[in-house]
Amino acid sequence: MMKFICDSMLGRLAKYLRVLGLDAVYYRPSKKGTDFSFEEPYYFLTRRKKPIFRNSIYIKSDHVQDQLREIKHIIKPYIDPSRIMTRCIICNEVLNEIEKEKVEPYVPEYVFHTQDEFRICPKCGKIYWSGSHVENMSRWIKEFLES
Ligand SMILES: [Zn+2]
Repeated sequence: MMKFICDSMLGRLAKYLRVLGLDAVYYRPSKKGTDFSFEEPYYFLTRRKKPIFRNSIYIKSDHVQDQLREIKHIIKPYIDPSRIMTRCIICNEVLNEIEKEKVEPYVPEYVFHTQDEFRICPKCGKIYWSGSHVENMSRWIKEFLES
């Protein structure tokens, strides 16, 4: 599976990639034991003009929507519609399904009463439901994939 390694200036972009179901991790040179290996297939997304790794993609824009447009032709082949919104946008972990009864104390009341399907991040415990990702995200995804 393709990994998208984002340098530290691309935090928002990493979150959008996760919403799209892509495996997006940060490159933190100071951190011991990173959760990726450069042996696996990857793209390194960076704001540095002088790339420090092979397979680097230089991102010109400062704005996340423009950044996404810049790499659209690269990321699109890796987007699986069935995986959209199945990752934690904070941790990049694949979410697990969780029974509705178990989430009642942790979600707003109206959400509990209007939603039936919930997922939980196995790492941070954040609970997701349809519409809980960023506002207007579904519409944005649709436009992004169709344009
Ligand atoms: Zn998480």
